[in-house]
Amino acid sequence: MAAPRLTDSFGRDVDYLRLSVTDRCNLRCTYCMAEDMTFLPKQQILSLEELRDIAAAFVELGVRKIRLTGGEPLIRRDILKLVGSLANLSGLYELTMTSNGVMLPKMAQPLKDAGLSRINISIDSLKAERFKALTRVGNLDEVLAGIKAAGAAKFKRIKLNAVILAGFNDDEVLDLARFAVDNNMDISFIEEMPLGEISSHKRVATQITSEVIRQQLETEFTLMDSAETTGGPSRYARVASSESKIGFISPMSNNFCSTCNRVRLTAEGRLLLCLGNEHSVDLREILRSYPGDTERLKTSIMQAMENKPERHYFDPEQTDIVRFMNMTGG
Ligand code: SAM
Ligand code: SF4
Repeated sequence: MAAPRLTDSFGRDVDYLRLSVTDRCNLRCTYCMAEDMTFLPKQQILSLEELRDIAAAFVELGVRKIRLTGGEPLIRRDILKLVGSLANLSGLYELTMTSNGVMLPKMAQPLKDAGLSRINISIDSLKAERFKALTRVGNLDEVLAGIKAAGAAKFKRIKLNAVILAGFNDDEVLDLARFAVDNNMDISFIEEMPLGEISSHKRVATQITSEVIRQQLETEFTLMDSAETTGGPSRYARVASSESKIGFISPMSNNFCSTCNRVRLTAEGRLLLCLGNEHSVDLREILRSYPGDTERLKTSIMQAMENKPERHYFDPEQTDIVRFMNMTGG
């Protein structure tokens, strides 16, 4: 019998789930969160068992890649247990995580041992003072130590993520790329999205396109376009004379929706079918009203695919989406 597949009404197969395990974070990046945030009470957050049940249902429906995210996934106390239980799901090809790296000095090796295959680490600046300003509370040395620890734990190709904001860190594009290449890692540059109302800056003033970032990179690196994909939204270029790839994530300037293969689950169990739309399906309600009814859960997930929108529309002048990125699960 053919394996079941999740297909939306535009014929796109969904085989990638981003699972947010908490909305909380030990940093407060200005583009991601407002200064004063209210986080979800604990009872609203999915339990370890609920997260596992939902992940298992998705894998039974053909999902092959799960990324754990948040908020900061490593501040969830039972994260190693979760990684261990998801890594054993038969049919899951890749279990990955996006982290800000702060807790990786202690956690990198245990995560690898628990079965995490890959990790992305966010780092937007290599200047300590600027890093602190961008994250409001962060200590760059901790993240650098986290990146080193991930390297020592021998994860499959580590990828760095940098959100570039014009006027804040766009003068560090070359430094960040050099850092990735020197450490034999990949790096993706991300355009800032208008998710959530922030007070630190006007998003329209900090927009910079992937194309402009690429032009900067080409003053130093020879980039060769690559058809490679890691199943996410990055378009990659190989860096000549190195093993590194540079990715461009362009939700603002280059809509990637036609190849969208992913959905997101918020920490409170809302299934988001699109980053740029508010529509969601409450899977927690189904789990808690019908405990153990896997078939009902799977049916709800399949039905939800019919409501996956064709594309997102972002306007940096307007924040139509009130959800912050820490709620969405990046
Ligand atoms: N805390 C972890 C981290 O920072 O890597 C995981 C969650 S974070 C929400 C995931 C990714 O989303 C990070 O790379 C972050 O830089 C990015 N991000 C957050 N807010 C964003 C925004 N408004 N536009 C674009 N990317 C954003
Ligand atoms: Fe935390 Fe990640 Fe958001 Fe920064 S981007 S505040 S590290 S969730």
